[in-house]
Amino acid sequence: EHLIDQIAAGEVVERPASVVKELVENAIDAGATRIEIATAGGGKTLLRVTDDGCGIDESELALAVRRHCTSKLSGGLEEIATLGFRGEALPSIGSIARLSIRSRAAGAGAAYEIAVDHGHCDGPRPTALSRGTVVEVRDLFQKVPARLKFLKSDRAESTAITDVVKRLALAEPEIRFEISGQDRTTTVFPAARDMGERIAQILGEEFSQNAAEITAEREDVRLSGLAGLPTFSRGNSLQQFLFVNGRPVRDKMLVSALRGGYADVMAKDRHPVAVLFLTLDPAFVDVNVHPAKADVRFRDPGLVRGLIVGALRQTFAEAGL
Ligand code: ADP
Ligand code: MG
Repeated sequence: EHLIDQIAAGEVVERPASVVKELVENAIDAGATRIEIATAGGGKTLLRVTDDGCGIDESELALAVRRHCTSKLSGGLEEIATLGFRGEALPSIGSIARLSIRSRAAGAGAAYEIAVDHGHCDGPRPTALSRGTVVEVRDLFQKVPARLKFLKSDRAESTAITDVVKRLALAEPEIRFEISGQDRTTTVFPAARDMGERIAQILGEEFSQNAAEITAEREDVRLSGLAGLPTFSRGNSLQQFLFVNGRPVRDKMLVSALRGGYADVMAKDRHPVAVLFLTLDPAFVDVNVHPAKADVRFRDPGLVRGLIVGALRQTFAEAGL
């Protein structure tokens, strides 16, 4: 079973930022209003995610670190509203690191802690915590040399973690996010009143003032968001934030559609800055092609591509660009 977990871990966990994504998604699923992420050594030494969500029962704690135990499959695949439903993340992480989970279930009289050291489980035992959940991951990949050697510098891994948090924070504007740690200055995204405020927190006021609002719809596929004016471009594509049904994605077709919308108004070596949300019937899209890769499979990719390219071109044309 330990070996199976390690193999599964290779699918789910590529780098520290993938762990952060899984843990923060769990906190979001738990209904948290405040999520804190702390890191050391680019997340290789320590990752800690603290939330004020519903917590985990003593009886559920041991289950949570076992393979394919998920509390999120009650409604069937088509109805899944929560971010994760595979029940693979925690067992995978526990197989390639030292994992500890402290949690106090809402309404419970006490908190409990469970520890998993490279697949070896200890607990649950009583601990002190007033509410929510604290998940700590130490020494990620330290015993998996094949993975360890593919990790980048602490600084690069830190940047990747910040990027993942920004994407999730854009998807959840009403949640307060804080990222701190030895290797960085503390960044806070306070709970925002609306999406516009969250976008300004993350991409800066300057972007908000140099962007066009996008809204378009085709056959029940809706597009909304802010697209930076062609004059507000970047030398890399890090500031392109794409979401499908509220989930951050990094899909080649969508990125290429975004570029296509700017093709006539932006130099080839520049990259647009944009935050775009696609909303469509979940039956027409599969956002879980790969647990870690954020790829998407649309039933009608041509329709989605046309919607994005068309909406951007029309917006720029109307602005006389
Ligand atoms: P999944 O999210 O796919 O269900 P995970 O391995 O990520 O699988 O988590 C296993 C289970 O542990 C979840 O289904 C959930 O019940 C519980 N859990 C994990 N993290 C939290 C958290 N921060 N707050 C509350 N429950 C959590
Ligand atoms: Mg999960």
